[in-house]
Amino acid sequence: MDNHTEKIRSYNMSQIKRVNTKPEVLVRKYLFSAGFRYRKDVKDLPGRPDIVLPKYKTVIFVNGCFWHMHEGCSKFVWPSSNQEYWEKKLHKNKQRDIKNIEILKHQGWKVIVIWECELHKKVADNRLKMLCNEIITGKEKTQELFVAEEPGIYSD
Ligand SMILES: [Zn+2]
Repeated sequence: MDNHTEKIRSYNMSQIKRVNTKPEVLVRKYLFSAGFRYRKDVKDLPGRPDIVLPKYKTVIFVNGCFWHMHEGCSKFVWPSSNQEYWEKKLHKNKQRDIKNIEILKHQGWKVIVIWECELHKKVADNRLKMLCNEIITGKEKTQELFVAEEPGIYSD
């Protein structure tokens, strides 16, 4: 039996298509060109952060809106079948994220989460500028930048 709904299947397809231009790559490229230096996929930190900036004692997670349950986001929609399975799985992801962030903060890291939907081409520039500001000043962003468009948008 196929556990995937049509929605998840098309989501997976969109993930495959942009294999070389993943959201975290977009963020890394931007930070590098802005002069930041970082480590990536740091395995010895909780949650394996996508980007670590030791100089600013800051870690960045670039989260997919579906897998990390971006609440209130138009890209997060509960699958219509196998609801029990997905609820359990996604809540587990969410709890794990919360726990990892708690541990990191306890260790003195500043934690920034960037959502996939914040990297849509219409808002990515704004979001990435805000990100640089957040890193340097240590202040969190105040705006949300939800957009309701299709995935597959991270080409150069
Ligand atoms: Zn989102």
